[in-house]
Amino acid sequence: MRIGTGYDVHRLAEGRRLILGGVEIEHDRGLDGHSDADVLVHAVMDALLGAAALGDIGLHFPDTDEAYRGVSSIALLTRVGELLNDHGWFVENIDATVIAQRPKLRPYIDRMRENIAEALDLDVTQVSVKATTEEGLGFTGSCEGIAAQAVCLIASPADVHSRNATFDTGQGIC
Ligand code: MG
Repeated sequence: MRIGTGYDVHRLAEGRRLILGGVEIEHDRGLDGHSDADVLVHAVMDALLGAAALGDIGLHFPDTDEAYRGVSSIALLTRVGELLNDHGWFVENIDATVIAQRPKLRPYIDRMRENIAEALDLDVTQVSVKATTEEGLGFTGSCEGIAAQAVCLIASPADVHSRNATFDTGQGIC
C-alpha cells in the first residue's frame, strides 16, 4: 500500500465560474487558472500521482499546453485513474478538504463525492470531501483564494492478496 498527499491553491477572480469537485457552484467569483481551476480535483490528482510516485499534474498536464485550456479537471482525473491502473494500482480511499471562507459548500459536497468516485470508478463511500474555513485568517479568510488538501491510499493486487492471506490464517489477529 502507498499513501499520497496533494495540495493546491487557486486565486478567486471575477468573470470565472466556480467549479469544485466537478460541481458548478453559485458564487460571485470563480477560481482562476489555465484549466477549469478545480482546486479540489487538482489536490486529489496530486495525491494519487504522489502515492504512485508518478510525478504531479504539472508534469502530466502542463499549463503551457493549449490542449488543457479550460479543460474539465474531472476528465483529467479519469486519466490519472487510468494511469494508476496501468501501473497496477487501485484506489482504496480518498479524503479531501476544501478550505474556503465562502460560499458555504455543504449543499454541494455529496455531488462532489459522486463526481470524483465516478471519474475513478470507485464507490462513493471511498471518497470523502470536507469543507472548512480558516476563521477569516489568511488568503482563504480574505476570500483571495481557495485551497484544497487531499490524502489517498492506493494498493496493488499483491497487497490485497497478502491481506486476505493474513485474514485466512488468523495471523495478526489477537
Ligand atoms: Mg491547480
